[in-house]
Amino acid sequence: MDDSLGREAPWTSAALASAIGQLREALGDAALRIGGDLSAVNPGWHPANLDAGIIISPQLTSQVAKAVQICATHGIAIVPQGGRTGLVGGGISHPGEIILATGRMTQIERLDPIERVAVVQAGVTLEALQAAAAAVGLEPGIDLAARGTATIGGMASTNAGGVMAFRNGVMRHRILGLEAVIADGSIYNDLTRVVKSAAGYDLKQLFIGAEGTLGVVTRIAIKLDPLPPATATVMLGLPSIAAAQDAIRIALATDVGHLRAAEALWRSYLTLTAAALHWSEPAIDLTQPIFLLLGFGGSSEPDLHAALDRIFSQIFEIFPETTGVVARSVAQERMLWRLREDTNILYRAYPAAPSYDVSVPLAQIEAYVARITADLADLHAELAPFLFGHLADGNLHIVFNHAGPFAETLREAVEDVLYRDLRALGGSFSAEHGVGSKRIHSLRATADPVKLSVMAAVKDVLDPDGLFNPGKIFAIK
Ligand SMILES: Cc1cc2nc3c(=O)[nH]c(=O)nc-3n(C[C@H](O)[C@H](O)[C@H](O)COP(=O)(O)OP(=O)(O)OC[C@H]3O[C@@H](n4cnc5c(N)ncnc54)[C@H](O)[C@@H]3O)c2cc1C
Repeated sequence: MDDSLGREAPWTSAALASAIGQLREALGDAALRIGGDLSAVNPGWHPANLDAGIIISPQLTSQVAKAVQICATHGIAIVPQGGRTGLVGGGISHPGEIILATGRMTQIERLDPIERVAVVQAGVTLEALQAAAAAVGLEPGIDLAARGTATIGGMASTNAGGVMAFRNGVMRHRILGLEAVIADGSIYNDLTRVVKSAAGYDLKQLFIGAEGTLGVVTRIAIKLDPLPPATATVMLGLPSIAAAQDAIRIALATDVGHLRAAEALWRSYLTLTAAALHWSEPAIDLTQPIFLLLGFGGSSEPDLHAALDRIFSQIFEIFPETTGVVARSVAQERMLWRLREDTNILYRAYPAAPSYDVSVPLAQIEAYVARITADLADLHAELAPFLFGHLADGNLHIVFNHAGPFAETLREAVEDVLYRDLRALGGSFSAEHGVGSKRIHSLRATADPVKLSVMAAVKDVLDPDGLFNPGKIFAIK
């Protein structure tokens, strides 16, 4: 079989053709999509995600196990995919590989309001879990803008963070139990639903953040928290990063309700999204250097709004140049969040803009931002990064005003500026997006060599033949 360019289609190789035959027999026709059948499938964040040209979509763990056995027997590599919202090329696939998609593994198997735990299949989206949990007054305690598409399995595999991480931790801290299919097709079952389990090595942690390189995550037990009956959102314009951090300190100490999110938007980012969304607000001075979106939860809206007034007065007393607006309707609250979450605006302005995702210890953020701003200006007069992110936990997103990718020498110079000293400072070159295929060189350049060799040893033990997601996290295997 040839493709439109006359090349031999990859699935005609003998091993692949034989594997496909067996997969079809084991999983049924509905579970396989090949070649032209993929035209209706959204490739997601990376255009090369579907390059393998073959997707298998099991519905049950036992089918995943069977599929892994068949692929292992034929030496066909497997690329696990969930919602394809990953931002570092962890889901990229190549001809000759098979994509194992969790799009049909969407059962919420258990959701217990007494235990405050849900057990879900890997393909359940965050939004679906949020809706099911909300019906019994609970929430997963983790939230991110890709909620409608990102899956719990994908979020586990990238150790996703999001806006509530400063308070509730990242996926690693929310997951109580996990089931995964490993390279020999056996099922690793560690689906505990309790917070406390000191029963030997906590091996499920190996699969969390492994980006599909150690196995296919099939089911997850995840902690839930009470959903506050009321929420309130305020946007503040502030004179400096130090002022924004002080505002977060004051907001954290509120005596009514609790702080749920503290997102920073630097001026250039807010002015770009505000212009694109035709948003303006007389109470917000768009010439200020930094803006803070604070989300609160509590038992009643009037109480929260009264608390917000008190918080604003306290901040205003210390920083009289502060401006601010409290969302007075659901529509206004949504709009304020859209200004932060609609990152597509940025990527429409600068297609494939080079983007970074660093974590900086809170005490170092102001100095770090000052240094990279100066060093980037020295490097290239026209480089002006857009900054935004999860200020309360030190996670900054840095996206360049440059259609991507950078030329190699510029990329190296930019990364030298961004990553220099990060490890010594106690930060990370990858806060929440992972390593994927995009940041392998950064991992190698910045990680402790002993950590790298232990990681390679773990990969060797769990996936000796490099069956799972080759070329992700590790350059080979
Ligand atoms: C608009 C937008 C906003 C975002 N905001 C945030 C944010 O605030 N915080 C954050 O942390 N991330 C954020 N992300 C990144 C992204 O949503 C996360 O990486 C998400 O966790 C990926 O889930 P997914 O189901 O889309 O996984 P995919 O993109 O399909 O896969 C991601 C990785 O996990 C592997 N994988 C997927 N499913 C499985 C499985 N079942 N078993 C084994 N491996 C698997 C894949 O091989 C790949 O390496 C954002 C992305 C977008 C597009």
